[in-house]
Amino acid sequence: MAFESLSERLSQAMKNITGQGKLTEKNMNDMLKEVRMSLLEADVNYGVVKDFVARVKEKALGQEVMESLNPSQMVVKIVRDELQELLGSSDTELTLNPDGLTTVMMAGLQGTGKTTASGKIARYAKQKLKKKVLLVAADVVRPAAIDQLQTLGQQVGVDVFTLGPDVTAVETARQGLDYARENGHDLVIFDTAGRLHVDQALMDELRQMEELIHPDNILLTVDAMTGQDIVNVAKSFDDQLDITGLVVTKMDGDARGGGLLSVRSITSVPVVFVSGGEKMEDLEQFHPDRMADRILGMGDVVSLIEQAQDRLDMEVGRQSADRMMNGIFTFNDMLAQFGQLEKMGSMQGILKMIPGLNKMAAQVNDEAMNSVMKRNRAIIQSMTPFERENPSCLKASRKQRIAKGSGVKVQDVNKLIQQLNQMQQMTKLMSGGSNMNAMMNAMS
Ligand code: GDP
Repeated sequence: MAFESLSERLSQAMKNITGQGKLTEKNMNDMLKEVRMSLLEADVNYGVVKDFVARVKEKALGQEVMESLNPSQMVVKIVRDELQELLGSSDTELTLNPDGLTTVMMAGLQGTGKTTASGKIARYAKQKLKKKVLLVAADVVRPAAIDQLQTLGQQVGVDVFTLGPDVTAVETARQGLDYARENGHDLVIFDTAGRLHVDQALMDELRQMEELIHPDNILLTVDAMTGQDIVNVAKSFDDQLDITGLVVTKMDGDARGGGLLSVRSITSVPVVFVSGGEKMEDLEQFHPDRMADRILGMGDVVSLIEQAQDRLDMEVGRQSADRMMNGIFTFNDMLAQFGQLEKMGSMQGILKMIPGLNKMAAQVNDEAMNSVMKRNRAIIQSMTPFERENPSCLKASRKQRIAKGSGVKVQDVNKLIQQLNQMQQMTKLMSGGSNMNAMMNAMS
């Protein structure tokens, strides 16, 4: 399957950075290096990779990341969003003509899967868009193309118009268009001739057809296996025709993915469909967001991050992070963290949304965790404001009072104080050598 190696490497790079708990200059640079290498090895255009990494770096140093509760998760989201941007910021659909008759002209080099794609799009338009489709066999160069289109038309149950191989493509297109109007078709797909290489005779013929049909869509088929050559082909066709979108074929092969990842930013031609097999149903509308998720192997992590952005109080998170950066972590900070955790819902639910961790979800006992949190909250609430901010003052008599007030044993109070001490030690580490601000300054 296409993108396999890229996906493996990028997923690993994302796992590495989130798995290390905190964001440091080193793990950030390691991640950026790995992203750069894996994109280059996937044959993504050098300039595209360079810009991509620069954009990720710039955003990762931004305010939003600093203010987030989990900076490394935010960095992953930045990579994911930039990957989507590379693939196309939004879905591109077929343009449907409001006056009734929608025209789709196919273009592409021989062997890229143009005739097959004509059949697949006919099926898609019939089933999903509920159109009465006509396929026009305007590839009169390749001997078998007309027969092939007729077979495909039969297979998907749509009409095929042909005047045979002795009538020119342009004349076939003209009469095909009239036929569609007379017979109540509302979507016409013109299969056209390909060549082994881009040549002027091919372009002249396609341009004549374009002038005649004024197509609502000109779709160019490109073979995913040809890598960055996709960019060159798309450029040459787009220079002469108004290409509205790409159909990237043979995604079921082991294409490295570079062409698909480079083409949008270099040519600004969007991908409309991808095809991953020879069968008529092997065609998908292209969704850049889902493809980005797929490549990063991250399933629902994005939703989880969005949930966090949506549900958590960023101001509370920022204040807490600021204090931790200054080596401060008190019972008030612990209380604030309990609140944020509660807002995120059940721990099981969170784990289920993280690929690789969903198996752990079954082992987590939400009820037990909630009752511990409830008990700890009660302990903190039995402390005076002074005690919460100055835990070192908690000697025996104070502990006894707190235990009594919250209905727990002194050991439970001790346990919580121990946890706080551990958190304080971690916080001191964070505010020491690898201070986040210093790190960010060093990187800019
Ligand atoms: P054309 O010359 O561009 O019209 O190419 P065809 O439509 O005849 O396709 C060339 C070959 O590629 C045929 O054997 C198709 O079955 C095959 N093909 C087309 N699309 C795909 C695809 O997505 N995956 C695979 N594996 N084969 C495809």
